[in-house]
Amino acid sequence: MVKCEDWLKLLKRYMKSKGFPLNRVSLTHSRKADKRNANDPRGFCHVVLGRPTIHCAEALETLPDEFIVGILLHELAHMVVGEGEDPELDVDEWVLEKCPEAGYHYADIKYASPKFRVAKNLECVTKSFLKKLNTKVV
Ligand SMILES: [Zn+2]
Repeated sequence: MVKCEDWLKLLKRYMKSKGFPLNRVSLTHSRKADKRNANDPRGFCHVVLGRPTIHCAEALETLPDEFIVGILLHELAHMVVGEGEDPELDVDEWVLEKCPEAGYHYADIKYASPKFRVAKNLECVTKSFLKKLNTKVV
């Protein structure tokens, strides 16, 4: 998962610059995530709190970069925010507050893995944020 790993590296550098060092975090391909993705076109990744691994479906690699980064940022935020009453809401609020330059939002995306499917309301970031990540501006 070369593309995802490259983006994770840049995101970790970004998080560190924000005061959230996540050096130990890595991602791994997961058959369980593949199975979930086969049933749920929105399901790509999961984390186990307290563990430094993001478990990813193969299909993540086929998404446009804005969505790969949005999803990975969301998972990293889970690791930082931890457990709460409503973790999904807490994570979104955390990203919006701490990473405003990411332009984090939800959008629909059509992708081809294994056939064309639509994922509604998927985490993504802006193209200009991708450019910033690549050029060390953030
Ligand atoms: Zn989540």
